[in-house]
Amino acid sequence: METHNFSIEFFPPKTPEGAEKLRATRRQLAELRPKYFSVTFGAGGSTQQGTLDTVLEIQSEGHPAAPHLSCVGGSRESVRAILQQFQAHGIRRLVALRGDLPSGYGGAGEFRYANELVEFIRAETGDWFHIEVAAYPEMHPQARSPQDDLQNFARKVKAGANAAITQYFYNADSYFQFVDGVRKLGVDVPIVAGIMPITNYTQLMRFSEMCGAEIPRWVRLKLASFGDDTASIKAFGLDVVTALCERLLAGGAPGLHFYSMNQAVATTAIWQRLVSR
Ligand code: FAD
Repeated sequence: METHNFSIEFFPPKTPEGAEKLRATRRQLAELRPKYFSVTFGAGGSTQQGTLDTVLEIQSEGHPAAPHLSCVGGSRESVRAILQQFQAHGIRRLVALRGDLPSGYGGAGEFRYANELVEFIRAETGDWFHIEVAAYPEMHPQARSPQDDLQNFARKVKAGANAAITQYFYNADSYFQFVDGVRKLGVDVPIVAGIMPITNYTQLMRFSEMCGAEIPRWVRLKLASFGDDTASIKAFGLDVVTALCERLLAGGAPGLHFYSMNQAVATTAIWQRLVSR
């Protein structure tokens, strides 16, 4: 199976130990030859330097890397400076987001939505960057309605995005429905499926609550039934997520983007199963 449309996401490490651990994770994951690694960006610029440092380290190891850039809380001037910094370092790909401000952060800044960021990036830098944006097959939690969310997604693409990566999900039909819906709105960019490996029940429930991803009832009940038996959780998670990936690829998904959580084992296991079949 072709692996050129697989990508892998990291978050910037906060400590020297975290940075060292991420290097080891990367060495393992680089063997899978992903198309690129991406590195998240804390809303409000809280990880700006960490994101850039991690991207530059990945580039220096000879792998393509894309920083995420979230605009909420930022000004035109601050985003312009970041874009110039990315250009100066030869970065050609980025993931453009609105982001979420932590509560109590204060003003929302000069950008309200990701479509304004994409428009600004194109106005400032032309075609320099390949721009990915976020997509929500199960609807963004703040959207007024699924239809409204589709329209907002289409607006973001029309502002100049080249491709999209979805929030993670475990219902393949939500992805296919979403893709059908946006194609009807004239959006024809690739929509890569975001994949969250399942390794930890409590963490999965917490993240999914925050980002609006639904865990199917049968998956939730089964995971809960394993209690502290992490080996069974991981084995079941591997089966469920590999089957999801197979269904997505068979149904035409142009690629997979793995939310690695800076861990190599689960992503590698899914990937190896996919390529061995
Ligand atoms: P938008 O596309 O702006 O949408 C946000 C909400 O506003 C939606 O409900 C949408 O329907 C609505 N909306 C959009 N445009 C309009 C408009 N013009 N008028 C009215 N309503 C509108 N967060 C980070 O902080 N850092 C990261 O690195 C990061 N990486 C991510 C990577 C991926 C692949 C994904 C899927 C998410 C990521 N996130 C990240 C989370 C993301 O920032 C949040 O989901 C955030 O709430 C929305 O960002 P967005 O870019 O999708 O926003």
